[in-house]
Amino acid sequence: MESINFEDVCQTHDIPNIMNWQEEQLTPEEVFRHPKFKELQNSFDNNEKHPWCNSCWNSSNPRYKNLTQFEKDCDGLMIDFFCSNICNLGCRTCTPFASNRLIKDENYFKKNNLDILSVTDNFFYQKNQDSLNSLQWKWIKNNPEKISGLTLAGGEPLFIPEVLNTLQNFVDCGASKDINLQLRTNGLFLGKHKKMLSQFKGIYLHLSVDAVDELYHYIRYPGKFENFEKSYFEFIDFCDNIKDIYILSVVNALNVLNLNEVILWAENRLQFVEIIPQFRGIGIKSMSEELLQIALDRSIHPTLSKLINKSLEKIKPNKKKMLKEITYFDRSRKQNFNDYLDRNLIEWLNEDM
Ligand code: SF4
Repeated sequence: MESINFEDVCQTHDIPNIMNWQEEQLTPEEVFRHPKFKELQNSFDNNEKHPWCNSCWNSSNPRYKNLTQFEKDCDGLMIDFFCSNICNLGCRTCTPFASNRLIKDENYFKKNNLDILSVTDNFFYQKNQDSLNSLQWKWIKNNPEKISGLTLAGGEPLFIPEVLNTLQNFVDCGASKDINLQLRTNGLFLGKHKKMLSQFKGIYLHLSVDAVDELYHYIRYPGKFENFEKSYFEFIDFCDNIKDIYILSVVNALNVLNLNEVILWAENRLQFVEIIPQFRGIGIKSMSEELLQIALDRSIHPTLSKLINKSLEKIKPNKKKMLKEITYFDRSRKQNFNDYLDRNLIEWLNEDM
């Protein structure tokens, strides 16, 4: 099995350059002929854990230790591609380098001298990215018959015209029938593109859902949960090529007291990841011990309980920083946290410091 991971984003991480690439511009085929890949393959064949793979070996996420359904189903070249930061949403947990929708907030913060960088521990910034003009994207467009599995991340891949046109071309030329397509998506356009997506060999979803109902709108602004649900169920009902659905919640102070609602909604498909940076204003480690203990007592999911328990050992309560991050966005979006958050959190935020 062959796998390339050019950039693995949407999930708002700056990907570490673990293989020390020096700005080389290589096509997927050239990557596989490269001595660095030969070195990795030799390690694998010799049953050795190569240091470049440490982040997966050391991760507690079982998905990094075992083959996913997508990986099991692909029998040739797999490509994981970050498309662009074009996104229809501006989630409070995200950053402008992953979503251009947040540039509107960024401009508001600049105009009003609100220091968003300090309250997000330098996470909220832009970065020049032009993946859709890259040599690699051109290769993908011209060689669909050589691809067994394609993973697309954004931004929101199904909101980017160039991506949609390319996927439609794969359908029109018949190549989609042999491609497994994995999407890191917020799900709001699944319904709209269900016909095109139903033409791929298999569909594998990585969905991000952090809350339900009004809290979804507050965190994943300006998305609406009812629109997400409509799109998602329209897609599920229509497509018979869905092979795997993985749902991820970013655990943060705004949702940690309400996650049981997402757990019940997502059933057994949900996993959790703690927001980064962990000590930013809306990090769960900025909450009071008492509040985090309430979240732990409420949790009905073992993985979530484990995550909260670990955070309790390292908390650094910082109401001032949390209030700043929350109210900067509230001001930019004309929202008010008193209308959306859990009662216990509201009380704590409103108490005198
Ligand atoms: S859906 Fe949310 S988390 Fe994903 S890129 Fe868009 S704003 Fe960021």
